[in-house]
Amino acid sequence: PAGSMEELVSLCKRRGFIFQGSEIYGGLQGFYDYGPLGVELKNNIKAAWWRSNVYERDDMEGLDASIIMHRMVLRHSGHEATFSDPMIDNKKNNKRYRLDHLLKDQKPDVQKKVAELMGEDADNFAALVAALNTRPTQASAAFKEAGVRDPFSGEVGEWTEPKPFNMMFKTTIGPVADEESYGYLRPETAQGIFTNFKNVVDSTSRRLPFGIAQIGKAFRNEITPRNFIFRVRELEQMEIEFFCAPGTDEEWHEHWLEKRLKWWEDQGVPRGKIEILDVPREDLAHYSKRTYDLMYDYPTLGHEEIEGIANRSDYDLGSHTKAQGELGLVAKVEENSDSIAKLTIPHPETNKPVVPFVIEPSAGVDRAMLAVLSEAFTKETLDNGNERIVLKLKPHLAPIKVAVIPLARNKEEITSVAKRIKAELQGLGLGRVLYEDSGNIGKAYRRHDEVGTPFCVTVDFDTVGKGEDTALVDTVTVRDRDTLAQERVKISDLGAWIQNKLR
Ligand code: ATP
Repeated sequence: PAGSMEELVSLCKRRGFIFQGSEIYGGLQGFYDYGPLGVELKNNIKAAWWRSNVYERDDMEGLDASIIMHRMVLRHSGHEATFSDPMIDNKKNNKRYRLDHLLKDQKPDVQKKVAELMGEDADNFAALVAALNTRPTQASAAFKEAGVRDPFSGEVGEWTEPKPFNMMFKTTIGPVADEESYGYLRPETAQGIFTNFKNVVDSTSRRLPFGIAQIGKAFRNEITPRNFIFRVRELEQMEIEFFCAPGTDEEWHEHWLEKRLKWWEDQGVPRGKIEILDVPREDLAHYSKRTYDLMYDYPTLGHEEIEGIANRSDYDLGSHTKAQGELGLVAKVEENSDSIAKLTIPHPETNKPVVPFVIEPSAGVDRAMLAVLSEAFTKETLDNGNERIVLKLKPHLAPIKVAVIPLARNKEEITSVAKRIKAELQGLGLGRVLYEDSGNIGKAYRRHDEVGTPFCVTVDFDTVGKGEDTALVDTVTVRDRDTLAQERVKISDLGAWIQNKLR
């Protein structure tokens, strides 16, 4: 695995996985662009998720809802009121920080002092942040007295009182911008699933239990985006809302925890690197009955959330449904007189209409990229003493599956065979196969090691009958990324040989 975040950032830029967004104008904080190899890896991760969660199950449907949503959706989901983080300003240099991030950046003795002044335990970080948040005047005074430093300037700051900052991006819709014409960029993909619940049920005749899966962009105006693509303002999520009868929810929650851990393992992120955090009751979001956070051990950052698996009870559909009073909801919901749909489904046993419970496994694509890249990153010392960097990606995730390399780039008899092999392999639907005639074979191998290409196929003089060994006519050399073994394979067998190895 990668030893540090810098190592990954550098590889990603050097080889074309990830670039800073709007870089030629100085960059835009919290936005990243996925380059030629990044887009392939990202697509492969999403395809693996979709295959496992939609195609390989018979109790799932897919969805692709729009990004901009009616303001009523985000009002009744609770996001207008509560989707906020506490922020605090340094009046000395007009810099703004997320309260918990600012506190994390302080030396341990300063953190201790703040906790002491607030009458809280420094070891219970969540409780301390909550206290700072709910007692803003005292918080401001404590920051001053403890000498909290500004992470940007390194100087002791002059702190305002913390106040909540809503993270949703708002936009106006249509030619007239007035009080009524705004909507939101969705802060999570989930709401598109809840608002389409009835459409999906009516069009597919689904019965409980079943789920809806969606992959797509979400937007959060993070106060302090940082740590490369770990915390960004434009992100992508892979979310499942799994609907089940009340009373079966706890069993399904455990089911999904297992399934998701297994999936991460299949992507090369082993269980041993993921801590399961059973979120303490007092830290749970208001809608959640219970939540497991999967905490992956990121390079440099340590254990941070890669996926949340929440039991959201009947809160979401209960919040978006009309006729709330008749439905015997378990969750505490705000009154809704705007919705025009009743979001119920027959109970599997009684057949009476019921608002189902929801289990939500919600994973970030960007954080998945980081984890997958980090686990695959390998530095090896070869027998000749040279160091090589190799991305030992699972083959199904590799951006390029096979590179076909003609040993001489201006010998037509060689290049034409190499091009034909590329076209044939491409036709097998393996993913991207690259014809690569950049020249130096050693450099090509090094580059393909660094981007995780499982196989390099070389066409040489022997292949085309111009070499010394006539037994090698119509064969190519296949080099294995991980073992470095080179094997001579008949061109006529090559497709099947590679398909077999990639399986
Ligand atoms: P955090 O506590 O790290 O801000 P969260 O608890 O707000 O995350 P959720 O709302 O549970 O995150 O979102 C589900 C998933 O979406 C997360 O597990 C993460 O993988 C991803 N995600 C959330 N916010 C971001 C972000 N700003 N940048 C990248 N990925 C994110």
